Amino acid sequence: QAKAAGRNTLRFFDPEMQAAVAARAILNSDLRSAVRDRQFLLHYQPQVDGAGLVTGVEALVRWQHPRRGMVPPGDFIPLAEDNGLILPLGRWVLETACQQLAVWGQREESSHLTMAVNVSGREFRQKNFVDDVLAILRDTGASSARLKLELTESLLLHDVEDMIAKMAALQGEGVSFSLDDFGTGYSSLSYLKRLPLGQLKIDQSFVQDVLDDNNDAAIVRTIIALGQSLGLGVIAEGVETQGQREFLARQGCQAYQGFLFGRPGTADDLLKGCKADD
Ligand code: C2E
Ligand code: MG
Ligand code: MG
Ligand code: MG
Repeated sequence: QAKAAGRNTLRFFDPEMQAAVAARAILNSDLRSAVRDRQFLLHYQPQVDGAGLVTGVEALVRWQHPRRGMVPPGDFIPLAEDNGLILPLGRWVLETACQQLAVWGQREESSHLTMAVNVSGREFRQKNFVDDVLAILRDTGASSARLKLELTESLLLHDVEDMIAKMAALQGEGVSFSLDDFGTGYSSLSYLKRLPLGQLKIDQSFVQDVLDDNNDAAIVRTIIALGQSLGLGVIAEGVETQGQREFLARQGCQAYQGFLFGRPGTADDLLKGCKADD
């Protein structure tokens, strides 16, 4: 007890640690007001087929901080997952993405587009997640068949039966699933077979060096083959060069996302032809 207190006291006076704790506390309270005041917006990044045609987008949240400007999700999503703000934020993301999807659904040139939405573990594990998603689809009028939820393998560390049941319930209503950042997590192949997935998303870390690193090339080849033998679609994320695209195409990959095809941008940018703005 005394020892622990002593350690804490020492830590408290470590200026670097103290500064980090203070910065986190500020970010925490800023994030709370951000959720209240809706300081967020969604950007949309195109996903393309083998011919380079846009088939859909991934919605990516941005925080327009009143003093710091645009804060990338990597800087606040983990915090929001820790402090629970991911629940109201994730709901806002789903509602906003589905509203956009409904708008696109009403125009001929955009009615084919699918919307991929990232769902964090804490959101997905909520008891009412399935009903909440279905209510949002109903309220916005978005087509469930065009909604794709991106989950990560970290969900498999929790209640897998509950995960399968929720996925199956949503799939029964037309919603599909993609396993994001695939290859970086904890998937066991036996689970993979049981999840009602539509797609594997090859993590960008493997795509990045695929032309120079034999191990990454082997992993990418294996994921594509795995997807094919399980009857799943495979999309590669983080495709930046024509060389990477050609390698992926040679291995049988049929869908791509990355700066080569378009950066995340506003809905208007997307319709104008995927112009970059961040
Ligand atoms: P993610 O879902 O794997 O999204 C892909 C990330 O890669 C995005 O970063 C995207 O901007 C970036 N990216 C796309 N193409 C390229 C490329 O060619 N090269 C490089 N270097 N990067 C590329 P972003 O927007 O910063 O998002 C980071 C992560 O934050 C996402 O990774 C996702 O895990 C999380 N995230 C973003 N939006 C949401 C959200 O609405 N809800 C939740 N729960 N998480 C989100
Ligand atoms: Mg994603
Ligand atoms: Mg990813
Ligand atoms: Mg990623």
